[in-house]
Amino acid sequence: MILPEPQSLLTQDSKMPGLDGEKMSKSYNNTIGLREEPESVEQKLKTMPTDPARVRRSDPGNPSRCPVWKLHNVYSSDDVKSWAIKGCKSASIGCVDCKGPLIDSVLKEQQPVRERALEYLNNPESVQAVIDEGSERAREVARDTLEEVKDAMGLNHR
Ligand code: SF4
Repeated sequence: MILPEPQSLLTQDSKMPGLDGEKMSKSYNNTIGLREEPESVEQKLKTMPTDPARVRRSDPGNPSRCPVWKLHNVYSSDDVKSWAIKGCKSASIGCVDCKGPLIDSVLKEQQPVRERALEYLNNPESVQAVIDEGSERAREVARDTLEEVKDAMGLNHR
């Protein structure tokens, strides 16, 4: 096989929900940036809409009607999810409580991304070095592949 057909490599949750529960997309204005400041991430998640039935803290809700739940599905363990379902349906937790572990998980996931980005921001020359090295490696692979293709097509007249 010289030119294998690329296949998708999807995670279990290949569609990332946005702040409104729809697909996360800049054009929907419902995104969280990978390197967004923690305070901003926290604020966005805290003000996310929830099940409209939960007008008061004492009103029971249903996670299936709540955009926050879609993010729990991506970020939370089974234990946290069953705690949220039980607490939501019985109104034993409020939406602020429910969002707490989610906020922690999102911030924890972003932390190493922010740290690595900072290294490059403090040392922009290293970005060019990575690009140069990657380009050289890609050129070598492309050259070899082109030779194989020419061989296969009988176009190599050496
Ligand atoms: S408790 Fe959680 S799942 Fe239920 S409505 Fe509030 S944020 Fe959504």
